[in-house]
Amino acid sequence: MMEMTTFQQKIADLFPNIALRFNESMEKHTSFRIGGPAEVMAFPKSPAELSELLQKTKALGIVAPVLGAGTNVLAPDTGIDGLVICLKDALEGMEQLDGTHIRVFAGVTMTRAAVFAAERDLGGMEFAHGIPGTVGGGVYMNAGAYGGEIKDICESVDVMDAVGNCKTYTAEEMQFAYRHSCLEDSGGVVVSAVFKLTPKPRGEVRALMQELIGKRKASQPLELPSAGSAFKRPVGGYAAALIDQAGLKGYRVGDAAVSEKHAGFVVNLGNATAHDVQELLRQVSDIVFEKSGIRLEPEVRIW
Ligand SMILES: Cc1cc2nc3c(=O)[nH]c(=O)nc-3n(C[C@H](O)[C@H](O)[C@H](O)COP(=O)(O)OP(=O)(O)OC[C@H]3O[C@@H](n4cnc5c(N)ncnc54)[C@H](O)[C@@H]3O)c2cc1C
Repeated sequence: MMEMTTFQQKIADLFPNIALRFNESMEKHTSFRIGGPAEVMAFPKSPAELSELLQKTKALGIVAPVLGAGTNVLAPDTGIDGLVICLKDALEGMEQLDGTHIRVFAGVTMTRAAVFAAERDLGGMEFAHGIPGTVGGGVYMNAGAYGGEIKDICESVDVMDAVGNCKTYTAEEMQFAYRHSCLEDSGGVVVSAVFKLTPKPRGEVRALMQELIGKRKASQPLELPSAGSAFKRPVGGYAAALIDQAGLKGYRVGDAAVSEKHAGFVVNLGNATAHDVQELLRQVSDIVFEKSGIRLEPEVRIW
């Protein structure tokens, strides 16, 4: 076994009751299957554990990035020195509050939340079934698909600040916009969200979810590691159409490639590095700009 670094020992001593993993490969925690080891990864199982982590690390001047399911993150090949806080499979829980509202904790996947809603004869979350991220990541990004987005169903969000204090934000205060919330500017960790749904027979909800999954399977390269759409939708066009029109389907840097099936996806053909993906994103953006005058910006978060 590798000897612990001073930092690892310090975190282990500070948080004896919180689940920690050392030298944890980011490959295992990102849908791109890319990234070197995180020096320490912490898995807080409750808001109290998350608060303790944030409070004590802040006091030491440690800033820890928060990871959900890693389905929109490109992690560095060299790994991450310091601490990563992972909420997927950790900060979990769902409850029905009344006839139309559910509360979901940040580490639950959006697919599980949508199924939970369906089982209670609640519709409105069908669009989120099949988005592979967590509710925390989905709220942070205002995830959306097939005409729906988190903004449409979100009533309020419990957010923890850098010193571990929790505040409830209304949907308006979250300032949701296309793949954006105020947390991108102000920081803060999503602890849980309350969604307002609509009574709808579960058969109908399930049928719509199946239809949308069918559309995904038909159009997206789900058999290869990716982070979904690599670029944000630009004003005045669609990233996938612009990339396709520029003749870039199949364009490669190392083992990172523009998907042949869906030009908006960058896929890992086997051994792609974060460097390959970043270089591919840069080249695709430049070529599309040369041909169309439209500049594509990455949607994937580059850590
Ligand atoms: C095959 C595939 C299909 C996809 N389809 C869609 C789609 O249809 N629509 C869509 O919108 N996206 C899609 N995505 C992208 C991705 O699933 C979403 O962006 C999702 O919301 C990311 O959630 P996550 O938990 O994986 O976040 P992560 O990738 O772990 O993190 C993304 C960002 O959110 C931050 N974050 C994560 N959790 C929290 C939290 N609790 N509090 C504060 N910040 C947090 C992270 O720090 C990071 O900056 C797809 C991805 C894949 C791989």
